[in-house]
Amino acid sequence: MKKIAVLLLAVLMMASTVVGCSNSQTDSKAALAEVKTEKNKADASDVNVGVCIYKFDDTFMTGVRNNMSAQAETLGAKLDIVDSQNKQPTQNEQVDTFITKGVNALAVNPVDRTAAAPLVEKAKAAGLPIVFLNREPEANVMKSYDKVWYVGAKAEESGTMSGELIADYFKANKSADKNGDGIIQYVMLQGEPGHQDATLRTMYSVKAIEDAGFKTQKLAADTAMWDKVKATDLMNTFISSQGLDKIEAVLANNDDMALGAIEALKAQGYNKGDKSKYIPVVGVDATAPALSAMAEGSMLGTVLNDGENQGKATVNIAVAAAQGKEINKETIGYDVKDGKYVWIPYVKVTAENYKQFQK
Ligand code: BGC
Repeated sequence: MKKIAVLLLAVLMMASTVVGCSNSQTDSKAALAEVKTEKNKADASDVNVGVCIYKFDDTFMTGVRNNMSAQAETLGAKLDIVDSQNKQPTQNEQVDTFITKGVNALAVNPVDRTAAAPLVEKAKAAGLPIVFLNREPEANVMKSYDKVWYVGAKAEESGTMSGELIADYFKANKSADKNGDGIIQYVMLQGEPGHQDATLRTMYSVKAIEDAGFKTQKLAADTAMWDKVKATDLMNTFISSQGLDKIEAVLANNDDMALGAIEALKAQGYNKGDKSKYIPVVGVDATAPALSAMAEGSMLGTVLNDGENQGKATVNIAVAAAQGKEINKETIGYDVKDGKYVWIPYVKVTAENYKQFQK
């Protein structure tokens, strides 16, 4: 009996040594990770990234910009961010100034995505990495230099998701087809002409409605340049040219324009809680005001354009490239397609899940 007790004690002691050992292993792993983070921080402290944003006065890009600053702080790198004031020549000069100042990498949200070639030339001449974001340069420009990357989101995905929001609404609400003709009469508020997000969201949102089995009729479509105030004006024009009772759905390429259209509808007593006076409105971005509009019931839905991850990925690439690292999942934490593209997925935002996106 005594023997058994001694044996048991010995086994217990051994077990506790093993457990103790694995604990200390975990501890040392954590310590190592901490040291590594500290080291990365120190490593990045001599990295200075010159950043141009097409214009500061853009709701979505303001979110991206703030996330870029936060990520730079996490990595211990310096960001110098300037407002290109929606002027390509101004942006070109800003890039020249950054190069003269001796930045280690460039991150550019181009004013005109079809005018990215000269910027790549400048970066190439200075041997600097350049990361474009949100406005995609043409493929030949992307291929013209080995240190150029793009961070964005697949616009067709967001178009499809916003169209599905409308299709689901019409499936669930037969009376939404106000004139009962089996066709969805819609108006479209478009982003800036030439922006891939404007072109593709417009196309794919309608395609998704039709793929869901509905016929559609475009009553009117025009650009409101991503802008809320311009969208209110445009929606007022649509209302007076088409008549409110004819419009069955409002599709907007982004949330600011969706919110501008809602202002115009509200001024006519629509989308204020009376179910007989409601027109479904959808946008893209999932900005804080759009999520509030969903909470109050004036906006049907939106699509998350993930500015947090777009900002993080951009800074991670710029810093890693400035440090001469290869750009891959290991070094930047995001999948890299064709060695040059990081695609951040969109997420559909509905009445069921919008709360999880509110910050
Ligand atoms: C966003 C818009 C924004 C635009 C700026 C788009 O991806 O959805 O809200 O104005 O980018 O380029």
